[in-house]
Amino acid sequence: MRGIAPVPSYVVMQPTTLCNLDCGYCYLPARAVDRRMPVAVAEAVAAPVNGWARQGRFSVVWHGGEPLAAGRGHLGALLAPFDPTVEHHVQTNATLIDDAWCEFFTEHRIRVSVSVDGPRERNLERVSRGGRPAYDRIMAGIAALRRHGIPFSALCVVSRPEPGLAAELYDFFLELGCDVLGINIEETEGVNTRSNAHRPEQVSGFWAELVAAWRRAPRIHLREVEWSLRYAAAVLDGVEDDVLPRQLDPIPTIAYDGSVVLFSPELAGFSDPDYGDFTSGNVMETPLPDLLAAADRTRWVAEFLAGVESCRAQCPYFGFCGGGHAANRYFEHGRFDGTETDHCRNSKIRLLEGVLDHARHHGPTPA
Ligand code: SF4
Repeated sequence: MRGIAPVPSYVVMQPTTLCNLDCGYCYLPARAVDRRMPVAVAEAVAAPVNGWARQGRFSVVWHGGEPLAAGRGHLGALLAPFDPTVEHHVQTNATLIDDAWCEFFTEHRIRVSVSVDGPRERNLERVSRGGRPAYDRIMAGIAALRRHGIPFSALCVVSRPEPGLAAELYDFFLELGCDVLGINIEETEGVNTRSNAHRPEQVSGFWAELVAAWRRAPRIHLREVEWSLRYAAAVLDGVEDDVLPRQLDPIPTIAYDGSVVLFSPELAGFSDPDYGDFTSGNVMETPLPDLLAAADRTRWVAEFLAGVESCRAQCPYFGFCGGGHAANRYFEHGRFDGTETDHCRNSKIRLLEGVLDHARHHGPTPA
């Protein structure tokens, strides 16, 4: 894996900066302000995306703020420039989902991923701007999805991995009815400056327990566990070099105003005296393919590429991880050319160790 791919596998779009919640671990700087993406920005992005979607599967991920806070009318206008072959995904806190939103998702064939952290007492960080727990509203939104037969994924943030939690979460998500589950160990990034350092055995134990829970009832696609098992199988087959893509996926995030931040949506809206505002240009001035072709001219991107090379040279987990995320390096180290972060320890190194620990003690996983 070397250099930056000229065509990303998906783009992230920010229809509004606003979020109706105010979660304790949120990284977004402008979530109290409703800055909406003009339709002209969507048109500028759709031009290359429609071409990419004609060559193969291509996705647009609508991410906020809370994307549903943009309203159905405006989100519909932003979707309109995209060809029907483009796949749309929305990452939502679910609190605004009702029957009308479900009809909208069905009409536009939007795949839904909801953010929920487990049972009620695990969602205490997810609160309204007035500090009221959001759990009941989240569950009402998910109930609407189920009523309408809309399949959904779930994204769960874990702040403190502790014994018993992984099994509890897995049982909750089985009951919830999601078909895919992603687990994020809380990250120190953006305006969230809380430490995410944990004892190694605590985190690898969490992942091992999650695999054990999944093996008892493997009815959910468990994102992190499937990544790990795919890598472990490739190592056993001697093809681990084929696991990572040939080039880094630039994953452009298009902020509400058309500015483009590469690799890490979490950097959008931030600036630094040395790195500036982290953008690589604006789709209202330069076509997205041209911005991608010149990506390594952005100073921090060049530094990040150097950091990825350091990871390749130093880290035994590189073949699994591919060099981690730019935002974690910046928010933990203040620069982009370091290597290990607490994030990669929690979510790559301990993940793989936990899955392998489980395999060592419990034998082969089900096919
Ligand atoms: S696990 Fe960390 S140090 Fe290793 S390649 Fe990934 S980001 Fe780099």
